[in-house]
Amino acid sequence: MFRAVVSVLLGLGACSAGAEASEPCPGHFAVEVLGSGGPLADDARASAGYLVWIDGEAKVLIDVGGGVFLRFAESGANLQSLDAILISHFHADHVADLPALLKSGSFEKADSPLTITGPSGNAFFPGLDEFLRVTFDKNTGVYRYLSTYIDDRPEWPQLDALEIDAFADETKKIALSGEAKISAIPVNHGAVPALAYTVTVDGVMAVFAGDQSLFSSTFDEALADAEPALLIAHHAISGAKGQPRGLHRDPSSIGDMATEMQAQRLVLSHNMTRALNDRVESLKAIAKIFSGPVEIAEDHSCYTILP
Ligand SMILES: [Zn+2]
Repeated sequence: MFRAVVSVLLGLGACSAGAEASEPCPGHFAVEVLGSGGPLADDARASAGYLVWIDGEAKVLIDVGGGVFLRFAESGANLQSLDAILISHFHADHVADLPALLKSGSFEKADSPLTITGPSGNAFFPGLDEFLRVTFDKNTGVYRYLSTYIDDRPEWPQLDALEIDAFADETKKIALSGEAKISAIPVNHGAVPALAYTVTVDGVMAVFAGDQSLFSSTFDEALADAEPALLIAHHAISGAKGQPRGLHRDPSSIGDMATEMQAQRLVLSHNMTRALNDRVESLKAIAKIFSGPVEIAEDHSCYTILP
């Protein structure tokens, strides 16, 4: 068993994380990237998923994209120790492995419900409540065999769902019993209702910016000068012409975001080949604006925030 610490400074000479089993991400407060990829399967990365470790226990999972089921198992995490699963939005690369992961938890005896949060819906996307209903409803859900998760039968593992208004212009604090303090912040991701999350332990913050465009003013204002120890931003497009900016921030905008919140460390995840191919240019564009350290995540990259 070993941990592959594979974050590569400036993203040059990036190597594969490999899929080897890992030990818990070390430290009092640490973040492991389970999935460093996006929606395309062309780079052998799992889609989006991040795990918050507190004192060697996996406590919070942010997003459950395709491949996160496997990376979760490889990480050595167990579902029973989780306090919450936080869903940023309902694109497949952020939620596709949720039923599979929950199925694995249905074998475990849980003492208390597992909190799950996600955005409200609109004409194009379901909100969390509708997503859970169409997935797990005992009569009509596609995975109705897992309906005990939402059936109010406390002898089975239960979900405690909290749908968050993705169009509010304010931060929503999420009450959890554990040490991690969670906030959800609405972001703009085109027509997709979407949230960013912050996780704070002992006053030290990690920001999971999620998929967002530069029109995310609520997010920018909420985190101005927040000085997070870690900012994970999504590197889906390069600065090259012709890449769509309505859904994602380009590298300059990521640099602006990191600078405005005074991030101490910037990690690029949700890496897509089209952006990685231009990584030298992208990193230069970020460095023109943001003077802190920048790394490109791999699956199982581990960032210890508090030792
Ligand atoms: Zn995505």
